[in-house]
Amino acid sequence: MSDDCIFCSIVDGEIPARTVHETDDVLAFLDANPLAPGHTLVIPKAHAARVGDLDADLASAVFDTVAAITPEIEAAVDADGANVGLNDGEAAGQEVPHVHIHAVPRFDGDGGAPIHAVGG
Ligand code: C5P
Repeated sequence: MSDDCIFCSIVDGEIPARTVHETDDVLAFLDANPLAPGHTLVIPKAHAARVGDLDADLASAVFDTVAAITPEIEAAVDADGANVGLNDGEAAGQEVPHVHIHAVPRFDGDGGAPIHAVGG
């Protein structure tokens, strides 16, 4: 828990969120400002600001959850794919300094950009 961390407050239940999946170490919840239906954030419950702050076990647990739930999210909203990624550091657009992986469902012809278009 880190003081003044909005995602730590979600983990602690002080701020409501719509939980998608939960384990002892990881929480997945719907993004409050979704880029697409089903846009989900996957976070470690323990506070870590940047991806490099995660130890190997926690990094693995976070990615295991991403891998497990992304197909389920796609199926739930009838998506055709998903962008999965994270913004690491303010310069990269990270707004909330608690590691979070975005899973953004994508739909054929939705006109959105792929991740490799960032900065391109
Ligand atoms: O990667 P970045 O830090 O920019 O993304 C932060 C994400 O956290 C945004 O998509 C924003 O909508 C989401 N958010 C949220 N609930 C909050 C605050 C931010 O889902 N209470």
